[in-house]
Amino acid sequence: MRLSKAFIPTTKEAPADAVIPSHILMMRAGMIRPLAAGIYSFLPLGYRMIKKVCDIIRREMDAIGGQEFHLPALNPKEIWEKTNRVEAFGDILFHVKNRDYVLAPTHEEIIAQIAADHVKSYRDLPQIWYQIQTKFRNEPRPRSGVIRGRQFLMKDSYSLDRDWEGLDRSYELHAEAYRRIFTACGLKFFEVGASTGAMGGTGSQEFMVESDAGEDTCAICDNCGYAANVEVAKAKVEDYPREEKSEELHEIYTPNVRTIDELSEFLKIPTTKCAKSRVYIHNGNPVLILMLGNDEVNEEKLVAALGGKVRPAHPEELMEITGADAGSIGPINTSLRVIADVKLRHANNMVSGANKNDYHIGGIDFDRDLPNVEYFDLHFVNAGDKCVQCESPLRVVRAIELGHIFKLGTKYSEALGAKFLDERGEEQPIVMGSYGIGVERIVACLIEQNHDEKGIIWPKEIAPFKVHLIGVNMKNEEIKRTCEKLYHEMIENDIEVLYDDRDDVSAGFKFNDADLLGMPLQVIVGEKNLSMNKVEIKFRATGEKKIVELGMLLRTIQDELYLP
Ligand code: ATP
Ligand code: MG
Repeated sequence: MRLSKAFIPTTKEAPADAVIPSHILMMRAGMIRPLAAGIYSFLPLGYRMIKKVCDIIRREMDAIGGQEFHLPALNPKEIWEKTNRVEAFGDILFHVKNRDYVLAPTHEEIIAQIAADHVKSYRDLPQIWYQIQTKFRNEPRPRSGVIRGRQFLMKDSYSLDRDWEGLDRSYELHAEAYRRIFTACGLKFFEVGASTGAMGGTGSQEFMVESDAGEDTCAICDNCGYAANVEVAKAKVEDYPREEKSEELHEIYTPNVRTIDELSEFLKIPTTKCAKSRVYIHNGNPVLILMLGNDEVNEEKLVAALGGKVRPAHPEELMEITGADAGSIGPINTSLRVIADVKLRHANNMVSGANKNDYHIGGIDFDRDLPNVEYFDLHFVNAGDKCVQCESPLRVVRAIELGHIFKLGTKYSEALGAKFLDERGEEQPIVMGSYGIGVERIVACLIEQNHDEKGIIWPKEIAPFKVHLIGVNMKNEEIKRTCEKLYHEMIENDIEVLYDDRDDVSAGFKFNDADLLGMPLQVIVGEKNLSMNKVEIKFRATGEKKIVELGMLLRTIQDELYLP
């Protein structure tokens, strides 16, 4: 493509609302333009990348036996009511005014309905159905550019199986396809187990990219590859360093002492000698949760440990439940069910609230005084904690979710009557899986991972063009003739090339644009080298430059960019 004719409106500055690198650079490189909050137009260069990502996704989905669909984005609301998801999605769901339609945020319902109408027998299974299609979600604070759009492209696929073993196979096929897709895109990614949220179901896994722009927080071990969302991440827990002699229980007057820091300061003891109390309501009954020092309760872990409905008690409920306000609550002299974080197992000489305002109790020995305490892992993992698998220090990083695979089970097939007859002629619900990848997110994450202060650095695996050909001065006939010849040779040899043939901008301007647009290899045709029948090539990633004989150029490009 010739830059003199291309519509690639590069800019020096990005708008103020663009704060993360991918957003800034997609704007500056003329890949996208905003239409409204969270809604973007993809311009030719941006859409070129979208299509490339889609090609890779299609190839890998087809390779696992996926069949491509195209389902409507406009859905009758009725079908979403059958699965209770109008309510489950709440404000995220876009409703069409004056009509009982919604704009689909995902497509489990439509797939289940097609299956209900047409899958009759176990012989019709398994199936993998996918599409790459526009999704609509009224994200509350769309930011981060296309990483969180209100309209975005998703590859969504759905597996239909006769039983759970079949689902396990379909799920594993997807996990492998996802690994191949992200690898083919040149992305560094990691995988984490995740909670299933509004989707329902029993098994799920997320594919993540480490990035400061991410909204998720994950713990990862660089040594063994363990990775988990902090909602569920575990670290190795050391035994509490129990003191040799346990003190007697004793009440301590602690006027106006509320927080663990105030308590530790007041008593001149480390925070790790304090047990923090929190009251939660579990299925209507109060429970006391004890954490070590300043550790916060990880509510996801608490819900997983207790099951059922769990919420923090309201401040105004505390006096009635415990006889004290927050800051003076504790495990001694209480009839509440007491649950403690595993870090408190065997702790002694601990201080906690006395269930009497302005008093604490010292000398608490968990083994002696609290024999009925139930222990669960309820704390958040911190950076530097030891990996549960290999004891290496964990890193806690921000991350962006690129893809998500779920074992759905029969929730949607039962709600929509998607059943089949098994060998014995008995009716069974189809066992479903659901799998999503954000297409724009892949493009944005590529930039998050590959950029510098000058611009984008596309990896050689995937780039809008492989080569950026620059005629330094197009008014020079010799340069022009050589560039034109190289341009046509590259096209003939299937080398994707963006050709800066503009004759009305300076060389410096062209170099800046080339660094901003980020093609992996720049070929620079200038007077001095050309007089010796040579051109310069520059690797965008490293900045390394080489002078190459004109006759060797194509071969060099092939070697550098195309061979594995
Ligand atoms: P998130 O937790 O980031 O909101 P999600 O869990 O709601 O995402 P899924 O329903 O699992 O997302 O959707 C599958 C994939 O679609 C995600 O992994 C992500 O890559 C992409 N995706 C989801 N929401 C958006 C969005 N608002 N903009 C762009 N891509 C999105
Ligand atoms: Mg998700």
